[in-house]
Amino acid sequence: MKRQPLVAANWKMHTPPTGWDAPDSPYRQKKDAVDVVVFPTLIDMGNSVSAGLTTGAQYGHPESEGAFTGDVSMTMLAKLGCRYVLCGHSERRHHHHETNEMVALQVASAIDAGLTPILCIGETADERELDEQEEVVNRQLSSALEVFGSKLKDESCLLAYEPVWAIGNGKTASAEDAQQMHAYIRSILPANIQDGARILYGGSVKPENAAELIAQKDIDGFLIGGASLKPKEFAQIVDAAAVGL
Ligand code: PEP
Repeated sequence: MKRQPLVAANWKMHTPPTGWDAPDSPYRQKKDAVDVVVFPTLIDMGNSVSAGLTTGAQYGHPESEGAFTGDVSMTMLAKLGCRYVLCGHSERRHHHHETNEMVALQVASAIDAGLTPILCIGETADERELDEQEEVVNRQLSSALEVFGSKLKDESCLLAYEPVWAIGNGKTASAEDAQQMHAYIRSILPANIQDGARILYGGSVKPENAAELIAQKDIDGFLIGGASLKPKEFAQIVDAAAVGL
């Protein structure tokens, strides 16, 4: 099955790069070739939607409203015009102690709110050292799998494999290692979404490694941190994803 590549810019807690909302911005949707989505901070989210960029949130609370100081719900994000939401990014798992169970609730809530969740999974350096990467992603996926299998249609299922040891430090998984993990992840997805699920790779993606990674059979796009804050580099990565179609 042909899966349209998706390239996501995770701006974390950074100000958007200069020119991000200009008419010729590389952060705009590349028609019919690549889906491009930006994940700004909450402060910039409304502007991003108004500027016509496909916008996602870096986190959403699973309850629709309530006494959760500092949080914003999936329902509120959807009302604002967000279309995607990251669930379980490794920085949230680490700094905010998000467990697999909490992440599964986010995924379910996102789908109910009409958002497309991007479930982030991946092993740490220690877990890779112990050759436990498959076990780890299997565990991370297991509570969300039921939700994905029962609530989602093929085209709206999105996962991001992000080996934690490759995030933000310039170390990328080799294309072979990444492909092996992506193929494994696809193999454990429920049958109804196995072919259509888009599995993004994240971890120090840059123009130099994007073409080789996107050429892999089970890599369907990228979740990008550092390089997404550099418009020229980001544009080159989007181009590489378009060529890899
Ligand atoms: C990320 O934050 O999801 C990420 C992959 O970051 P970087 O591209 O900087 O490794």
